[in-house]
Amino acid sequence: MQVTFWGAAREVTGSCYLLTTGKGAFLVDCGMFQGKAEEKTGQPFSFSPADIRFLLLTHAHLDHSGRIPLLFKQGFRGKVYATAPTIELCEILWLDTVKLMQEEIERVNRKNIRAGRPEVHPLFTEEDVTGAMGLFEPVAYDELCMQDGVEFVFRDAAHILGAATLEIWAEGAKVVFSGDLGPFSNVMEGSPPIIEEADFVVIESTYGDRRHRTLAETRQEFEEVVQEAMAGGGKLLIPSFVVDRAQRVLYELVLLKDKVPFSYPVFFDSPMGARVTDIYLKYRHLLAGEMQRFNLDNRNPFAFSDLHYVVTPAESKALNEIEKAIIIAGSGMCSGGRIVHHLKHNLYKKSTRVIFVGFQAQ
Ligand SMILES: [Zn+2]
Repeated sequence: MQVTFWGAAREVTGSCYLLTTGKGAFLVDCGMFQGKAEEKTGQPFSFSPADIRFLLLTHAHLDHSGRIPLLFKQGFRGKVYATAPTIELCEILWLDTVKLMQEEIERVNRKNIRAGRPEVHPLFTEEDVTGAMGLFEPVAYDELCMQDGVEFVFRDAAHILGAATLEIWAEGAKVVFSGDLGPFSNVMEGSPPIIEEADFVVIESTYGDRRHRTLAETRQEFEEVVQEAMAGGGKLLIPSFVVDRAQRVLYELVLLKDKVPFSYPVFFDSPMGARVTDIYLKYRHLLAGEMQRFNLDNRNPFAFSDLHYVVTPAESKALNEIEKAIIIAGSGMCSGGRIVHHLKHNLYKKSTRVIFVGFQAQ
């Protein structure tokens, strides 16, 4: 078995690994490049998509899943093995990507037409997303699966809902792909799996060069900024990835309200985020850590009074007229989405506070 790295080596995004055995080739992940490396997303694959026999997808984040519709567009028709929540999250994320690409393409093409340049086309369309969705083969955690003489098991990676670490056996060797790993915090996900043995390990190391603060310290800091924003009577803006991180922010607000009841309007300004929260609730039995207590009490860990879901762009803009608010909106890296107009309208005010809760690309 041969492993070739086509992304996420000496960089964080674009996870894509080609594994070749005597019976053919398969992929682990096929993600988008983000941040500085973004332009690599549209470059041709270094292999023929039609020759790939199947794909194992660790989780839904776009830097792991985002180029699967492009693979489909270019002839890949093999099965895509993934957990059920990963499949549902992919559909939401991919359709959102199509929408964002479409908006960007229209903007670029308006300029191109004026300048007499040829029009450009999106990387993939809704049709490709539909096609790629049809390739999914749901797998359960800890279930032994097999294709083309390759055996594999998805283990709960404790990263986002549905995320997996892969154990793969082929031609007498065992290789483990960690996928993205959770931080052992036991808040919404449990602990990453203990893998007893492997011949080769491909492991995520995004934060390998630093120690995270403790959970208690992070919560303390979060609480202080929330209290500060409320005391100042202004806005608290929280740019957030809408998968997992936004649900975690909602949960932290639930905890904070349990600890020190407060009344301050919270707006979750992301229709996509609301759909993701529904998927988290649907698969809440797969969540672990502190979520288990909420499951036992049959209590929704993402809901509280004063929480408002913002749907239309007009409703989002109307928030500019409100002084006091906690606003959670995408995108997590402030590279687009509704958070941009909130930052533009509020950043200059002394009373505004911003909490960055996730990874920021350079
Ligand atoms: Zn991830």
